[in-house]
Parts: sequence; C-alpha cells; structure tokens
Amino acid sequence: MGQASRLAEACQAGRPGTTSKAIVREVRLTPVVTTIVECRTAVAAAKKAGQTVGFVPTMGALHEGHAALVRSAKAKTGYVVVSTFVNPTQFGPNEDFHRYPRTLESDRSLCAAAGADLIFAPTPAEMYPEFSVAVVDVPKFDEKLEGPSRPGHFRGVCTVVLKLFNIVIPDLAVFGQKDVQQARIIRQMVRDLNVPVTVQIDPTVREPDGLAMSSRNRYLSPEQRTAAPAIYRALAAIRERALGGEIDVARLESALAADLAAIPGARLDYARIVDADTLDALPRFDRPALAVVAVFLGSTRLIDNVLIP
Ligand code: AMP
Repeated sequence: MGQASRLAEACQAGRPGTTSKAIVREVRLTPVVTTIVECRTAVAAAKKAGQTVGFVPTMGALHEGHAALVRSAKAKTGYVVVSTFVNPTQFGPNEDFHRYPRTLESDRSLCAAAGADLIFAPTPAEMYPEFSVAVVDVPKFDEKLEGPSRPGHFRGVCTVVLKLFNIVIPDLAVFGQKDVQQARIIRQMVRDLNVPVTVQIDPTVREPDGLAMSSRNRYLSPEQRTAAPAIYRALAAIRERALGGEIDVARLESALAADLAAIPGARLDYARIVDADTLDALPRFDRPALAVVAVFLGSTRLIDNVLIP
C-alpha cells in the first residue's frame, strides 16, 4: 500500500496511529532551510523548472494576515518562499527582540495550508556574519510617523529586506498594508536602487471585531484585548467623517487623537492624516490620504491605518 492510500485509510478509520500521524505531519509541513546556500539552491531549482518566484518576508509567529499574503503570492507565482527571520537590527534596545514569539512548527503548517513552498529561517549569525557593516537608508520616508519613535528601525528593515531580496531573487514580493510605512519605504528602495522585483501591497487582514491581526496581539492582557478593537473603530469613524464631507484635516486629526486617548489603558504615540503616497502632512483632502496611528496598550505598541477614500 502506498503512503497516500495508507493516509486515506487512517483518516477514514478516524484513528490515526503513530505511523499515520507521522505521515500527516510530513504531508502538512512546509520544508525549512536555514542557510543562504540551501535557500539559493532550492530557489534555483524552482527557477530551472520554469517557476516564477514569489516572496513573503516575515518575522514568523504567523497568523491569517501572513497567510493571506502567501495565498496572494501563490496566486501569481509558481514557487513561494516565506522568510521567518526575527531581524535583530530593526529592534531598538528597549524593544521586544528577545521575547518576540518564535513559533516555527505552527508557522510550517500555516505556510503549507496557504501554499508556500519553502521557509527560509536563518539565524542572526547566518544573516549578519562578523564585520557586516553595509546598511541601506531611505531618507525622508524614515523620518516621519514611526521614524522618531523607532530610531534605526527602517534602516534595519531596508537592510534585511534588500539582503533577503538578494538571497531569494524573487519576481514578486508581497507586503501588508498594516505596516504601510514599511511597505512604502521598500517600494521606494526598490525603485531608487533598481532592484528587479515587483512590490505588491495587500490589504490589512482583521479579526472579526476589527483589530488588525498582529503577532504582537498575543502580548495583550484580556482587558487590553477587549479594548484594542477601539483603535480600528476610531480610524473607521474618522474615515466616515472625511467621506461625509469634513475637510478640516487638523480637526479630524484631533478627533482621532481624542478617540484613541479615551481607550481604557491606552497611551497615544501618534495619530496623523497624511498623503497616502508621500506620507507627508496633508493640508487638504485633494488626494488619497491615510489615517495612521500608533498606540500603546500597556507595553504593547500597536499600529494601524486606513485609506481615505
Ligand atoms: P511581520 O508581522 O512584521 O512579520 O510582517 C510580515 C509581513 O506581514 C509585512 O509585510 C506585514 O505588513 C504583513 N502583515 C502583518 N500583519 C498583517 C495583517 N494583519 N494583514 C496583512 N498583512 C500583515
């Protein structure tokens, strides 16, 4: 009896024994490579077989938001690589690098279900051998919104993403609107440095109550988790007011800030309405805009945004 029919029989019998369990795991998990050479070899084989390559860079601890990016990449390319690298250089000294969740086994099943073909999960030493000094800066875009609150963050992001692009050499890279400034900066980097990859930005995936999915949501206490959807409600309300004809950007910004500050246990970092393309301050609603916020609930920093219109 072949593996597939043994598996079918075990599933039908409803009593997966030790062997069939092992088979199920084998079938379900996306393969993981940890070295640059292995990653390049796997991608080269896929390209040689005529596949186009999609890429979803992440820090792991994957959720449905990441799965949507993987499905989206898989719909357009034949072979999809997901990196799950908790990149030390994009964390500030007082941020959560050490406690950031690392969940490789569940990441593997989520990736398999979403159609990923390979996970690249390097160690920091693999990505940053001794005496690595080159960095990528995208000035202007890294100075606003998240920039002042997270000095050095975007330098870390751009440097690691360019390195990952050079390792994977994808045709298409998919990012989430949830981290809109990051996506915008990567698009600028790709354009300015002539990186041969198409950057796609996909919509934010939310919990049923509106909270943007995030690996950091698991840090929230039950009370904070109950309060957190008010962030999206505040953004949605501002969007409605703008669509309803309110044209005073400053007034909308203050209303947004007040709504966010009123969330129990919340501390506002920033609430801005900006040009959706340049991320600069927006004098009036004469072009696509973004309402973008960062809020602390306890020590957990959550970001979210909505497009207007
Ligand atoms: P990270 O969660 O920092 O590992 O982000 C990896 C990629 O997933 C980035 O492009 C994020 O913008 C994207 N992402 C994270 N959360 C969501 C979400 N809720 N919806 C859509 N994309 C997301």
